[in-house]
Amino acid sequence: MGRESHFDVAIIGGGPAGLAAAQVLGRQRRRVVLIDNHQGRNGAASSVHMLLGREGMTPEGLILAARRELAKFPGVSLLSAEATTVLVEDAKIVVSTTGADVSADHLILATGVVDQLPSIPGIGTAYGKSLFHCPLCHGFEVGDQPVVVIGGSEQAAFMAAYVQDRISRDVQLCSNGEPSFSPLTRRRLGHNDIRIIEDKVVAVEAQPGGLMLRMADATAVTYRAGFVSAKYSQRSPLVHELGCTLRDDGRVRVDHFQRSSVPNVFAVGDMAKATGGNMSFVATAIASGVTAAAFLDEDIFAGRWASQGTT
Ligand SMILES: Cc1cc2nc3c(=O)[nH]c(=O)nc-3n(C[C@H](O)[C@H](O)[C@H](O)COP(=O)(O)OP(=O)(O)OC[C@H]3O[C@@H](n4cnc5c(N)ncnc54)[C@H](O)[C@@H]3O)c2cc1C
Repeated sequence: MGRESHFDVAIIGGGPAGLAAAQVLGRQRRRVVLIDNHQGRNGAASSVHMLLGREGMTPEGLILAARRELAKFPGVSLLSAEATTVLVEDAKIVVSTTGADVSADHLILATGVVDQLPSIPGIGTAYGKSLFHCPLCHGFEVGDQPVVVIGGSEQAAFMAAYVQDRISRDVQLCSNGEPSFSPLTRRRLGHNDIRIIEDKVVAVEAQPGGLMLRMADATAVTYRAGFVSAKYSQRSPLVHELGCTLRDDGRVRVDHFQRSSVPNVFAVGDMAKATGGNMSFVATAIASGVTAAAFLDEDIFAGRWASQGTT
């Protein structure tokens, strides 16, 4: 980062959403600082899918390519650091980081979410390798092979039925000792011949090209892949400290231009949502970053235009 410390826009979070916002603003020759501490949500995955023109690229490769593209916009500064506090002082936003402190007229939060996996030893090492939260993103590669869905919720049952319909007939539902399926759901699972394993999982092991579940009864079952119905939470506490209004699912409530309830603060990517539904992909994160940045750029200009010639 150069010596400048006041910017038009500070962006906290350099995943797909924050990077997309930085690119749009850099192209409009805005002075932007992008603060990131390199903990992207899909960092453990070996490939990114459902991204037009980039199918199968590594998550790291995607981020590096975007950061390289930003180098041609002189107004964009990259700061590798963690943003620790944000103060809104009148119309100025002051961001303290583990590197330099910066200020800006506007803030875009793009800090992402963290997946809350069931507490099973080893599950973290398999996540992103052969265990995933999203069959849309990582189902195709394991088509027609043995697959397990881990979870005892209605959502897990729905996911198992979806996986069986779209990905592989060979699917089992492992309730991990906590089944809460309604009688109707059990009938539906039975109707689709989806076997429920009620036993508790004591360990998950990532294996070359697969996944092994060690069960409480000392048996072990191997699958090509697994899916887990994971919950998530905000990666950064900054949204809470800023007092952004949240939705019931914990994401920041934003309008169609990604504006949060706090003046001059936008929120983009997985951490925020304007509409219902639970979908969060790299492409939707990029789209929200572009939307926020394009609106903000025009809004800054419109404000200047409106104040001209009035005196
Ligand atoms: C295992 C896995 C595989 C996935 N595979 C796919 C896929 O194939 N295709 C797809 O479309 N989607 C996939 N996803 C979803 C995808 O990862 C997200 O939708 C996407 O990363 C969201 O981008 P984002 O910019 O909102 O957040 P993130 O990518 O999570 O980026 C947030 C960034 O903010 C930074 N940050 C957070 N707090 C601070 C702070 N205080 N200071 C500085 N920096 C901070 C983080 O370090 C991180 O770099 C996958 C998710 C997982 C978990």
